[in-house]
Amino acid sequence: MGAKIGSEKLGNLYSGGPVRKRREWRGLKDTIYDFFRWLGIMLMLGKFIVRPRNLKAMFRYRWMSNYLFVPMMIDRHTVGLRGEQLRIAHAEYDLVAKDVAQLLGDCFRADKRCGNDKKFSKKIVILDENEMFTIMCGFPNLKCVSWETAACYVSVLLNGASMTHYLDVVQQMGLPGDVCPMPAAEAGIVIDDDAPIYGACAVQCNTTCDGSLMGNGVMSRFYERNGIPCFQIAAPLRHTEDGVQDYAAQEIRNAIKFIEDNTGEKWNWDAYFKNIKRFNAENKHRFGWMEMSRTKYPQVFGANLALYAETTYMAVAGRAPAFLKADEKITKLAEKAYKKQNLVVKEHRHRAIIWGVQAQYYTDFLPWLQNCWGILPLVDMLSLVYFEKCSENDKDQAIYDIAKLYQEMIMRNRTHGGYEVLLDDLWRFVEYYNADMVILWEHISCKALDGMHGLFEERAREHGVKLVWVNHDLMDPRVVKRQAIRDDVNRYMRSVLREEPLDPTLENIDDEKSY
Ligand code: SF4
Repeated sequence: MGAKIGSEKLGNLYSGGPVRKRREWRGLKDTIYDFFRWLGIMLMLGKFIVRPRNLKAMFRYRWMSNYLFVPMMIDRHTVGLRGEQLRIAHAEYDLVAKDVAQLLGDCFRADKRCGNDKKFSKKIVILDENEMFTIMCGFPNLKCVSWETAACYVSVLLNGASMTHYLDVVQQMGLPGDVCPMPAAEAGIVIDDDAPIYGACAVQCNTTCDGSLMGNGVMSRFYERNGIPCFQIAAPLRHTEDGVQDYAAQEIRNAIKFIEDNTGEKWNWDAYFKNIKRFNAENKHRFGWMEMSRTKYPQVFGANLALYAETTYMAVAGRAPAFLKADEKITKLAEKAYKKQNLVVKEHRHRAIIWGVQAQYYTDFLPWLQNCWGILPLVDMLSLVYFEKCSENDKDQAIYDIAKLYQEMIMRNRTHGGYEVLLDDLWRFVEYYNADMVILWEHISCKALDGMHGLFEERAREHGVKLVWVNHDLMDPRVVKRQAIRDDVNRYMRSVLREEPLDPTLENIDDEKSY
């Protein structure tokens, strides 16, 4: 136990109950730093809950109780980290937590059942959780508030079991059990009358698959029932083809016009270009971190890259200056650690690309990989998005840029667009990042990916790359438990590679009840 990486046997921290036996000891300096960051989060939670409308929401919405677990969620994702790595993780997670608190605050201020601020509500556009927020960059006087992000996406990160009730509700209504739990849970929340009601209008996107389309259908009925007009951006699925770009751009123009008509606001090009400049700058930082992962000393990777990238790229989209400031800080820390040739765990044994759609109920699987087996999750599929620079002054091009971002948003850019983007690109990235291993998430309800199983295996053999399949059910931990996910890796490492774990106490841990 101490300041040295790997000095604590991390499996010993688990108690089998909802909380761990104790906090991790990281040496005096890092433990004090980590403790004060934890305290900061507790204070933030305290400040949030003293507002009467937020307190009311806590009792009104079942999913709100998950927000009590924010400090535990950050602990799970910083496990084993020291020095710059620990500071990078806190710079990210603490800011994301603050941003989500703002989202919840706006949500309940406008919500009919809590704050019921009608004037404020008329300034809100509702967006899907799985949709680029770029379309709001040109509306500086409007807010975009996604209740799905608060109720579903973040809730599962905080507490893996948070959506099981809603999945039961939607299945009782007749939805088959093999539908992707993400759209199914969102639909369940609406059917259970557990979604906040607010907003001038809503803009949906045909995100990724038939499951998502089903979910959007249920959601749009809910909006219409509550007098909230809803527009659906039908972004082309064949997103790599030039022939569909004019149509895609027209969809964006139509969506902008819809927002203007329903809010009385006008699209503002100055605001758009200001935000998109920031978006470009954020992408440049992220790209720099990912380039660092090509070397022997990656610094911003794994869960630190995946979760933060999802938030900044998709939901922030350049609209909040605090994120660019955090990016600058992270880059400085990463460069400092890189110069010192810092390792993240005591031994870097394998370099892995994480492919497929992650288990939302077990995002701390990536820290587990590195701590237990010394497998570095260099980059993940969801972070490998569209990194072309968007125009910062050309209005015609800008519409095409936004259209491209909608077509190629997270998950959609790989689950659709043909086998080139899902299958061929993987081996290109394996080579680019000098990886020797692929961890392939097999989301068992994702029809978009499941059909390719054999093709992945064939290609892995051709390239001589170690391929480890990891089964999960996205938001339903009852179907594939966390230990079952770990066992997919444990089995491969022991029986195929004949390796011993870096930290054997992590091989089997009793964390099913833990938050
Ligand atoms: S994980 Fe698969 S099934 Fe679920 S929303 Fe994404 S593409 Fe659709």
